[in-house]
Amino acid sequence: MINLKTAHEIDLMARAGSLLASVLPPLREACEPGVKTIELDRIADRLIREGGATPGFLGYHGFPRSICVSINDEAVHGIPGNRKVAEGDLVSLDLGLVLDGFWADVGITVGVGKITPEAARLLKVTEQALYVGIDKARPGGYLGDISSAIQKHVEAAGFSVIRQFVGHGIGREMHEDPQVPNFGSPGTPPKLKTGMTLAIEPMVNAGSHEVYMKPDGWTICTADGSLSAYFEHTVAITDRGPMVLTSSLSPFRGEGRGSMTLNPLA
Ligand code: MG
Repeated sequence: MINLKTAHEIDLMARAGSLLASVLPPLREACEPGVKTIELDRIADRLIREGGATPGFLGYHGFPRSICVSINDEAVHGIPGNRKVAEGDLVSLDLGLVLDGFWADVGITVGVGKITPEAARLLKVTEQALYVGIDKARPGGYLGDISSAIQKHVEAAGFSVIRQFVGHGIGREMHEDPQVPNFGSPGTPPKLKTGMTLAIEPMVNAGSHEVYMKPDGWTICTADGSLSAYFEHTVAITDRGPMVLTSSLSPFRGEGRGSMTLNPLA
């Protein structure tokens, strides 16, 4: 069952999203050669708590840290620890919080120092794919429009989308209906309605879409060892189109609500 949110609930989610977005710039800045992934976790945990929220991932199905940090061939769900970030790494950061009963979920991949042209292209295409998907999050469209737009954009660039993990509805729970795959056909139900809130998150591999789980029970890696990147926003579908909730510029009600997607393609 899809929980449609009221305007007031979307405002609350925008507040949660805005706080979560504010954690990204300091995290990005901290992604320097030599930093331990656990240090990135500590920064995010502290900033989330200082904002009055709860780090959502900590303890979620037993996850032991407050954020996920996944490097290079690690696609998603990496556990922060003593590994040090190195020059040229692609560091994917996935974080969520709960504020006033509502979740926000966001993710970025950061290139550390000088990265290869292919890695840079992977980053760009993956971030573009997120916004291509967000642009389809409009009342009257279909969920499959989002999925297929992401898949087409990624595959046109010669990359692949991970199949085993998908985006999701979000609200009072991190994972609500519907699932939001990064592959599919336009026109596939459900129909998109005002009040739906979705975590859209293209997970893109430079090589094959196949992945496997490390023995730690969490970290998902590319089967062929190729690089992987990932970007995510929590988005509300409004009468005026998609509204990115996990933006530091998140428009609260009455301040241009629903008028922007912060599209880097524009
Ligand atoms: Mg998510």
